[in-house]
Amino acid sequence: MDCIFCKIANKEIPSDIVFENEKVIAFRDINPVAPVHILVIPKAHVESVQALEGEDYNLLPDIFKAIKEIAVKEGIDKSGYRVISNSGKDGGQEVFHLHFHILGGENIGKLRCK
Ligand code: 5GP
Ligand code: ZN
Repeated sequence: MDCIFCKIANKEIPSDIVFENEKVIAFRDINPVAPVHILVIPKAHVESVQALEGEDYNLLPDIFKAIKEIAVKEGIDKSGYRVISNSGKDGGQEVFHLHFHILGGENIGKLRCK
């Protein structure tokens, strides 16, 4: 499958990895919009939130545990951060492998998204 995030998860494409376990990997966004901008993805290919089905839902606790752990590692757990997942065309999704943006390191304001 020609999916850039599968290739990142398989280390076929280099990325700045900040977290990894059996099910989840996280790396810095190549085009950051905040001082901390990290993408958290399941290693298994799922297209989007809207494509979640069956066993896929079991990935979500692991993803959110990873998000919390990354926030602590990045020193933004107390200052705060935003978690975003774009789904589909109107959501502005560009890469069709489920991912959660973590944005932090400064006040993100109400309107900034990715
Ligand atoms: P989306 O718009 O689908 O929610 O977000 C996709 C994100 O992936 C964008 O913020 C984009 O900068 C990031 N991105 C796209 N290609 C690469 C890549 O090859 N490496 C990394 N680290 N980030 C990427
Ligand atoms: Zn993929």
